[in-house]
Amino acid sequence: MNRREFCHMFPLTGASLAGVVRRPITQAGSAPTGLSPSAASPPFLYILRLAMAPGLREDERVDALLSFCRQAQIDDVAFILWAEELNTGHPTPEEVEPWLRMVERVKPRLAEAGVTTSLNPWVVLLHADRGRVLKPGQSLRLMVDRRGRMASATACPLDPALHNHLRKHYERLAAVRPRIIWVDDDFRLHNHAPLEWGGCFCDLHMQEYSRRAGRRLTREEFASGVLQPGTPHPFRRIWLETSRDTMVNLARILGEAVRRVSPDTLVGLMSSSPAVHSIEGRDWEQVLRGLAAGKPPVNRPHLPSYTETTGPQYLWDFTRVSRLSAASVPPDTLLYPELENWPHSRFSKSRAFTRFQIESAAALGPAGITMDIFDLFGNGAMAQEGYAPILVQAKALAAKLREQKLDPRRETGVEVLFNPDASYSLWTEKGESFSELAPDDSFWAAFFAVMGVAHTYRRYADQKNAVLAISGQYCRGLKESQVRNLLANNITFLNGDAVFTLYKMGLGNAIGVSGAEWVAGDSGIPSYEQVIDGRIYAGLRDARLTAQASTGDYLKIEYAADSPDLLIHTEVRDPSGRRSGPGMAVVRRRIVTLPYGRSASHQGLLHPVRQALVQTLLTELADNRCPLFLANTANVAVFTYELEGRRVILLVNASLDEYQELELRRISWSHEKAVEISSEGSRPLGDRLRAREGGLVLRPGLKPLEVKAIVFPQ
Ligand SMILES: [Zn+2]
Repeated sequence: MNRREFCHMFPLTGASLAGVVRRPITQAGSAPTGLSPSAASPPFLYILRLAMAPGLREDERVDALLSFCRQAQIDDVAFILWAEELNTGHPTPEEVEPWLRMVERVKPRLAEAGVTTSLNPWVVLLHADRGRVLKPGQSLRLMVDRRGRMASATACPLDPALHNHLRKHYERLAAVRPRIIWVDDDFRLHNHAPLEWGGCFCDLHMQEYSRRAGRRLTREEFASGVLQPGTPHPFRRIWLETSRDTMVNLARILGEAVRRVSPDTLVGLMSSSPAVHSIEGRDWEQVLRGLAAGKPPVNRPHLPSYTETTGPQYLWDFTRVSRLSAASVPPDTLLYPELENWPHSRFSKSRAFTRFQIESAAALGPAGITMDIFDLFGNGAMAQEGYAPILVQAKALAAKLREQKLDPRRETGVEVLFNPDASYSLWTEKGESFSELAPDDSFWAAFFAVMGVAHTYRRYADQKNAVLAISGQYCRGLKESQVRNLLANNITFLNGDAVFTLYKMGLGNAIGVSGAEWVAGDSGIPSYEQVIDGRIYAGLRDARLTAQASTGDYLKIEYAADSPDLLIHTEVRDPSGRRSGPGMAVVRRRIVTLPYGRSASHQGLLHPVRQALVQTLLTELADNRCPLFLANTANVAVFTYELEGRRVILLVNASLDEYQELELRRISWSHEKAVEISSEGSRPLGDRLRAREGGLVLRPGLKPLEVKAIVFPQ
């Protein structure tokens, strides 16, 4: 397909054709003058992660790859090397050569087409054994789990022999002079099947833990101490700091090896769930800067849908994983999120959902996206999958949104507090599993995302006059004075876990709580939640919500008799209508409680009545600090940005419903010059954006799975 045909197919894309012309194509009806904040905005990179196998139809695979790059506007090909089905364990130098020579043959042909080359070697420690063993001459120390089970091929990251192996290995990779070398997400201590949790508890690690503890430790004693319920045992800190130091050191080894050989190559980290990385004490700053070795940090945050899921579930997980990742890394990090498709093909994920993932990733402020959309065992780029047209369309929008520099650190709205170091301070309940060390700070972000309320992740900064949201055991990571100041100086939403944490910390009096006990969500005691404030929510008098299992457990809170300005808006009842305890309440006109938690379940908390109640409380309590929210939507996220010379709203419809009209409440920005950026191009909104009752109405609103932005010049 030639360029003319592409321009005809996508008349409003305004994007370049990779390998043909790198300049944006100017078109009638495209961006109005002055919309673009910077003429020098960097491009939005399409990075195709691709596996070819040495000796398997190389000429045909290269032709198909070049054709796909041209048609789908691919900027960079990251060759996946010795991965998954073709992986035999840690590659020997002899095994590496056929792969890299293949890449070296293809690289100039890609360069002729304007496409750069990167490398995605599959192994640092090894993802999982899957029958693999060490090879003759490989004397690597193997990872050991807390039960003493030793992996057959996954390596210990503290092992000097592994360090020597990886130095030489990465120097050879760097000799290809790739644009980026991607460190795969086996760079972690967890998820190394068949080990329980992961490691490492090998003899070398046990010596290190013992050295730091000042006495000889057994695995059982040490792991029990790390997970001890209640106040963290000193072993917790030893575990986290040893793990942290181990991985930071390994990152530096990899980064320096590459830098010695290829000073211009970037080294990027593929990462997983940030809450799970907290269990192993990940120091995002030091790991990413160690790999970068003086260059910009590069990260591929996980997008939580290897296989297609529902839009609402994706929005929930995207907020808890991908957006928390973006908030955790250093601010100068280049983000290329992980578009995955596994076990590969449209049987796993549709093109429509693929496009939605690329476009909605704008909420991360990405520099591009990595795409693993073809299999890993040698078929290469399959034209018949038909990705090219949707990739071209998605890139046009993604590039325009990148020009807006939608930095998550410039988001406004409810501040959801998080702490990447929470694993140091949180209390375990049972002390049985390392998963108990995962923080649960992100609940409110997901809640406000699906509820259509503007919000953002923030770290502790002695906030004042803000609207905050706290979940889990976040408060255990702060000093008592800091907690008291936050609760006294802001409007704060607390879920049941956060209330219980404060109560157990002896800070119940800071939120007017004199008692709190968990009641199982399936006990029949919490059955439904009854509105008792006499108001109409979502058009209903005496509205009801579920309080059963899908809400999580119920925290029965006892409010102090002398608690000033206590307003109980709902109460929880049993099936017979008997009162079980208070539901949502407001204390001192600044603390809002949602008394559920201790669960991964959330669906029961989502309801139009809950949405109306929360938005009403925000409006009344926050007054001029109230964040923008959407009226009567479901699973439509709104993000608001304060940027240089303009404000921007990003809208993400994660549902399959169409919104003919979208009502934006609590917004008073001047909208006469507002411009819409959508898949149809950039255009002034004119009277399609109108004022109504203190807010704005956008008409038409959003199509199913649509992403668009509205720019308000100032
Ligand atoms: Zn070890």
